[in-house]
Amino acid sequence: MPVINKIAKEIKPSATLSLKEEVNSLEEQYGFKIIDLTVGQPDVGPTEDVLEALLEGGKFSRYGPVQGDPELREILSGVINEEIGVRYSPQDITITVGVKSGLDILMRVLLEPGESVGIMKPFWVTYPELVRLAYGIPCFLESDENLRPDLVRLEEEVEDENIKVLLYSSPSNPSGIVYTEDELKGIAKIVKEKDMWVISDEIYGRFVFDGRKHRSILPIEDMRSNTILLDGPSKRFGVPGWRLGYVAGPGEVIKALTKLQGHINSGVSRPAQYAMRVAYTSEKAREANDRMRQRYERNRDIFVKGLNEVDGISCVKPEGAFYAFPSIEKLFGYKYEFSGGEYEIKTSVDFRNFLLRKAQVAGVEGAPFGMDGHIRFSLATEEENIVSALNNIKSAVEELCL
Ligand code: PMP
Repeated sequence: MPVINKIAKEIKPSATLSLKEEVNSLEEQYGFKIIDLTVGQPDVGPTEDVLEALLEGGKFSRYGPVQGDPELREILSGVINEEIGVRYSPQDITITVGVKSGLDILMRVLLEPGESVGIMKPFWVTYPELVRLAYGIPCFLESDENLRPDLVRLEEEVEDENIKVLLYSSPSNPSGIVYTEDELKGIAKIVKEKDMWVISDEIYGRFVFDGRKHRSILPIEDMRSNTILLDGPSKRFGVPGWRLGYVAGPGEVIKALTKLQGHINSGVSRPAQYAMRVAYTSEKAREANDRMRQRYERNRDIFVKGLNEVDGISCVKPEGAFYAFPSIEKLFGYKYEFSGGEYEIKTSVDFRNFLLRKAQVAGVEGAPFGMDGHIRFSLATEEENIVSALNNIKSAVEELCL
C-alpha cells in the first residue's frame, strides 16, 4: 500500500475523545455511573432568541462572503472595543469555523516549514498539533510553580529556540490562570524586542472570577502590530457545536487568512453567523453568560477548597475559565486494587484510570496539556456533580497505599 503523510500518521488523537470511549466501556462493563468532568463546554445552551435567529438565518442558503457577514464583523468590532479597548476595522476581522479552524489557518499564514512556535505551559491540547500540521516546531515554555508565566525563563527560551510566534490562552485552559497587567507587559516587552508574533487566545475572556476584569495584551502600547486576537462565541454563549469563531489582527495577516479560508472552507455557515449577530447583541444572552460565570465560580470555590483538603493533591486557585488543574504528582508510586488486579499510579493516565475505576469520576490526564503531574477537571456542570465528585475523590484517595 502507498504511504500516507508522516505527520498525519503520528498525530495523537484528542485525549478527550478517546476518554469518552473508556468511560462508556467502564459504565457498560461494571454498571458504573461516572461523573463526567472532562467536557470543555458550558452545560447550558443558547437563549431562545439566539436559537430562533438560527432558524431564521436558514434563509441565507447561498454562499456568503468568505471573510464573514459584514454586519457581524461590525458588531464584533464594537464588542472588542468595549471589552478590551481596541478598535478594529471590520476589514481586519475574519469569521472562522470555530477558533480551532481560525488558528489552524493562521499557522499556515505565519509559519515557514521548520519555524518555532513558543507555547506557554500548560497549554490547550490542540496547540502543538496545529503547529505540527503547519510544518512548524512547537517549543514548550515552562511556567513557574504556580502555573504562571515565568518571564525570566521565557526571555531565555525565546532567545535559545529562535521563536517566531508566541501562543497562549488567558484565561487559560487548563489552569484557569488569568495573566495580570504586569505579566502581559512583561510578555509584550519580550515580543517587541524580538519582533515576534503573539497569538492571544481569549476564548474564556467572559469567564473571569472574583470581580477581576479580563485583560488582553492588545491595548499595551505598540502591541497591535504584533498581536493576533482569537475569540468566539462557543463558550460564552454555549454554542460550541455551531462552529463559530473569529480572528482579528493586522490587515496583511487577515487578508492572507481570508484568502486561504476561501479555498479551505469558503467561510462559515451563514445561519450560524446570523445567530451569532443576535447573540452578541442580546441582553438575554449576556445575562445567561453572567449566570453561567457565577455558577462556575461557585463550583470553583467548592471544588478547589475540597481538593486542597485531600492529602497528596494541591490545586492552584483558577481565576477564570471553567477548569481546575490540580497537581497529583505526590500520589505517584501509590497502589490500588481493582477487579482482582493491583495497579500502581505512575503517570497522569494511571491517575485518570484510578479515578475512573475507584471514584467513578472522569477527568483528563495532564500529559497532553504538557504537565504529566496534573489532571484537568471541567467545572461546567451542576453543583451537585461537583460535590459528589469531590466526595468520591476523597474516599478513593484515602484508600491508596504504598
Ligand atoms: N481555545 C481554547 C483555549 C479552547 O479551550 C478551545 C475549546 N476547547 C478552543 C480554543 C476552540 O474553541 P472553538 O473551536 O469551539 O471556537
